[in-house]
Amino acid sequence: MNIPIIRKVLERNDAAARENRELFDSSGIFCIDLLGGAGCGKTTLLEMLLPRLASSMRIAVLEGDLETTRDAERIAALGVPAIQLLTEGGCHLTATHVRRALDQVPLESTDLLMIENVGNPICPANFELGEHCRIAVLSATEGDDKPLKYPLLFRTAAAVVISKCDLLPHVRFDPGRARAEINRINPDARVFLTSNTPNSDLDELTHWISVKTRQAHGAPMLT
Ligand code: MG
Ligand code: ZN
Repeated sequence: MNIPIIRKVLERNDAAARENRELFDSSGIFCIDLLGGAGCGKTTLLEMLLPRLASSMRIAVLEGDLETTRDAERIAALGVPAIQLLTEGGCHLTATHVRRALDQVPLESTDLLMIENVGNPICPANFELGEHCRIAVLSATEGDDKPLKYPLLFRTAAAVVISKCDLLPHVRFDPGRARAEINRINPDARVFLTSNTPNSDLDELTHWISVKTRQAHGAPMLT
């Protein structure tokens, strides 16, 4: 009884996602959906990455949350245009949420649109937003057993960031096991290890995002 209803919701979402994608492509925007559980470090990752990326591209950020404008305020403090998208209790973003927010994005002067999804490792992975690729975040504090427990999140991600690696001495988390299980689900996923410290090495991840964004704009790769 429920199955046709769920299918209809996803079909409607997919149609809206296709419209978003067309808008991104016609505006020359590369769009990344950033997903992961609550508190895994998505906003902190953006705070560390955006200043590194902003020297070579124009960025805008959509912040998805149930309530509060806290995350958008953190991004706006970096001087990056940030729009807070409130789901008012909804546990994932939909393509329609994103479409409404796009009215506030300076489309013609944006090269990279980062969407931070609602903190939830489960259902956001079911909803395409029109993004070109996904980055999943898994923190060392969540446990190295999570890739096999939340496989859709990791199967659909082009890259996985293992965050909070500065806490590895204090938690039971084997980055080798996490990497192996991620690649068992998704052999093509790139895996990056980061720390929530000012001196975290983000060069490889910054380079990966830069190359993806440039490729989407048809520019030659600078590798
Ligand atoms: Mg956040
Ligand atoms: Zn949900």
